Amino acid sequence: MPSQHKTPPLSIITTYKKQLCALLHAGWEIGLFRGTNGNASLRFPKPYDDIAIITATKTLKGHARLSDISVWDLRDNQVFGKELSSESQIHQLLFAKTQAKCVLHAHTPYLLALSCVCPIESIKTLPIYEVALLPFAIGFVGRYQPGSTQLANAVAQAFEHLAQHNASVDTKGCLWMDGHGLLCWGEDMLTAFGILEEMEHLAMIALHGRSS
Ligand SMILES: [Zn+2]
Repeated sequence: MPSQHKTPPLSIITTYKKQLCALLHAGWEIGLFRGTNGNASLRFPKPYDDIAIITATKTLKGHARLSDISVWDLRDNQVFGKELSSESQIHQLLFAKTQAKCVLHAHTPYLLALSCVCPIESIKTLPIYEVALLPFAIGFVGRYQPGSTQLANAVAQAFEHLAQHNASVDTKGCLWMDGHGLLCWGEDMLTAFGILEEMEHLAMIALHGRSS
């Protein structure tokens, strides 16, 4: 990488890549990721917080290897490794607007199934304490072509709207992209993963509630 850029030691990059692969495998085990769907990124702590790692395009999440994770300079969008997905622009946007260290995007089946029968907003009115006590904010984005600039613009707008009412979005939150999937971020990897898991869990409850 260019010498004027502060970059983490190779040992730290390798450790982070291993952690991201382990998260993807864990997500695949419980059905949050399938095939090449979705993407995941991790930003390094200061003084390297302009550098992140991210899954390359077409990575099979359940079988991701270190070579499937690219190093990404967020300042000039330079990529060191395999080509990134067009969805990487929404990761970049969230890293620019928040203190998030991890951004996850997944096409989770229960959320998608629920969205086919009713608006995902219905999750917020489930009559269970779990919803009332949710420790993160949920925002909503309309239906746009995945990877498009229109989607990135809509995500930016939805984020700003969410941020007006929820100071917590600086460190954690999620946005549902209609007909597409969930975008979550957290101040660390497990926070983002927990939001993804919790949202999918609530969608499963909502679907079961409708069919019983
Ligand atoms: Zn997607």
